[in-house]
Amino acid sequence: MIEVTQLRKSFGKLDVLKDINLSVEHGGVVALIGPSGSGKSTLLRCLNLLVQPDDGSIRVGEKSFRFGQGTTAPGSRSLAAFRAQTGMVFQNFNLFPHMNVIENVMEALVQVRRMPKAKARDLAMAQLQRVGLDDRAQQGTETLSGGQKQRVAIARALAMEPRVMLFDEATSALDPELVGEVLQIMQKLASGGMTMVIVTHEIAFARDVADRVIFMRDGYVVEEGPARETIDNPAMEATRSFLSHFH
Ligand code: ATP
Ligand code: MG
Repeated sequence: MIEVTQLRKSFGKLDVLKDINLSVEHGGVVALIGPSGSGKSTLLRCLNLLVQPDDGSIRVGEKSFRFGQGTTAPGSRSLAAFRAQTGMVFQNFNLFPHMNVIENVMEALVQVRRMPKAKARDLAMAQLQRVGLDDRAQQGTETLSGGQKQRVAIARALAMEPRVMLFDEATSALDPELVGEVLQIMQKLASGGMTMVIVTHEIAFARDVADRVIFMRDGYVVEEGPARETIDNPAMEATRSFLSHFH
């Protein structure tokens, strides 16, 4: 479903992604772990071209782009079509504050998909049901807990029927007692066959829910393997040292 080859990205003089290769199969769940500044968010953002790589190639589904010398920057239409394949969930929810819950979920369906409002409302309601918040549809987002906000953000992404879901530390901003309800939704999605790339510091969750784990450091993939094996018994010293902070 996802194929990344020889991906590079620099911000000015800072080489953030140095030579990234990865693939995620259809229905695969990959956890990206690694120290702060290792390039996890940048890589995730490259997967939906929120960040434009300097070199290499990215394929999602049947759509692919090459970057670097001799390539032309993607046009706005092909960019939009490419992005529509992925749903992204951020640490800070990024809900539209002036809209209520169901309006948040409907917005892109109406504005981007040009769907009639009644149909968008039905679809949005079904997604809210999926995250257990259909009873909150008419509430303002400011009345929700952090965990509920994040579940709305997930419903909003799902409403666009993405082929891949990208999560960037979706639970890091939450009070500890609210982390579980969001992880539970993510777990349900994973077992329902959604292809997912998850940046997370929840190592136990990565171990239990992801098929594969990728450990990044300094813009490189240092180690990659089956989640359980790699986390329980990492081959590289850098991975072992990083993981030792978590128990
Ligand atoms: P964290 O765990 O703290 O979220 P990360 O692994 O997600 O870290 P990135 O956010 O990808 O790391 O950042 C990697 C490096 O790139 C950092 O040094 C960061 O300061 C830098 N960086 C990221 N985005 C930009 C940008 N838009 N402009 C300049 N530098 C950036
Ligand atoms: Mg990050």
